[in-house]
Amino acid sequence: MRLEVVTIGDELLLGFTVDTNAAFLARTLSEIGAEIVRRSTVGDEPDRIAQAVREALDRTGAVITTGGLGPTADDRTRPAIAQLFGRALRMDDAVMARIAARFQRYGYASMPASNSVQAMVPEGATVLDNPNGSAPGLWIEDERGRWVAMLPGVPHEMRAMTTDVIVPILTKRYAINGAVVLSRTLRTTGIGESALAELLGEDGHDTVAGLPLAFLPGWEGVDLRITAHDLPRPQAALALERAEAKLRSHADRYVYGLDGANLAAVVLDLCRTRAWHIGTAESCTGGMLGERITAISGSSDVYVGGVVAYSDRVKTSELGVPAPLIREHGAVSEPVARAMATGIRSVLGTEIGIGITGIAGPTGGTPEKPVGTVWIATDVNGDVHATGRRYLGDREDVRRRSAQAALDQVRRSVSRVG
Ligand code: AMP
Ligand code: MG
Repeated sequence: MRLEVVTIGDELLLGFTVDTNAAFLARTLSEIGAEIVRRSTVGDEPDRIAQAVREALDRTGAVITTGGLGPTADDRTRPAIAQLFGRALRMDDAVMARIAARFQRYGYASMPASNSVQAMVPEGATVLDNPNGSAPGLWIEDERGRWVAMLPGVPHEMRAMTTDVIVPILTKRYAINGAVVLSRTLRTTGIGESALAELLGEDGHDTVAGLPLAFLPGWEGVDLRITAHDLPRPQAALALERAEAKLRSHADRYVYGLDGANLAAVVLDLCRTRAWHIGTAESCTGGMLGERITAISGSSDVYVGGVVAYSDRVKTSELGVPAPLIREHGAVSEPVARAMATGIRSVLGTEIGIGITGIAGPTGGTPEKPVGTVWIATDVNGDVHATGRRYLGDREDVRRRSAQAALDQVRRSVSRVG
């Protein structure tokens, strides 16, 4: 089934609030085979709301809106859509009683008068329960079966209602036959988008094993997303398996996980099974690598600690990097990165030491060592490996990419991927 989403709110148009509702609706509804074919966003203006909903109804006859059901003057969805359907708004006593009871439950002496507009229901509309908020949702339908479901804008209220109310209604109404849209993401890192495309060759051209393939680059790496449309669940799952195997046959060494995988968690798991420990020595990343690791619950099994060795003095005093080595090669150099990794490993007595030194910019670059030059060394039980990189991007980007690359270097060393 095809439907459209209209998200409502000035804050969305102004860019103060990111439209996470539309993204959630798309993901959740695609799981039951309902396809959002278009989405639009309008401000809190009745005419614009009505126009967007009218156009969407003309195209698909099925529309979900979010936002604008609140109690304040900027909440205009209810009257705008009631008018579009030519229905009067009537006070619904049962809804009113529920809202009042909710205020009582939360210890208010009385309900603010403004909340009573939330009990106004267009004639013939169905009230959709919202257990997490005062504004109920509304389902309104015309004689031709064209419908609009109005959901509140508050994300957690909207999400609960989508799963508990909208999904069951749509499943029943469209007797959705089990056809689903399933996606899988292979998370790669350490290879650029175009190099990856080349590596995949014909198999990565647009489709892989018959499924559309999307390249999604970001600072963590390039995500490869494959999607199976309109297939019964078992077939869709099988198609994803096939496409994944095809992608892995070319690029497996770059793949660190699926879907929401976090490289730090992957590395922690690899080390945990070997009872290995990690120590970090960070210069240009200033603790970002430690942050990535400690953000994962349970990291204390593996992560011992680290030194932010920003100045040369600290590199020498805390990590034992010989001062002449720094003088001869510079703080951003392969020998210094190696000495940092080995130094932290011996200071903390860990199996794994990681050293990062680089020029994050925007200042500090030279012709020989431009901004973005980073050396990353890993010492795994005495086996030291160093790589030099040159990242494009701003300071934040260089730092984040460095931390990610350091994690990937550990992943490869520990799992002995070339
Ligand atoms: P409303 O229901 O329009 O009063 O919105 C209530 C709250 O939900 C506001 O803080 C909005 O910023 C937030 N909100 C509304 N629409 C969205 C959306 N599409 N995505 C994320 N947050 C939203
Ligand atoms: Mg609003």
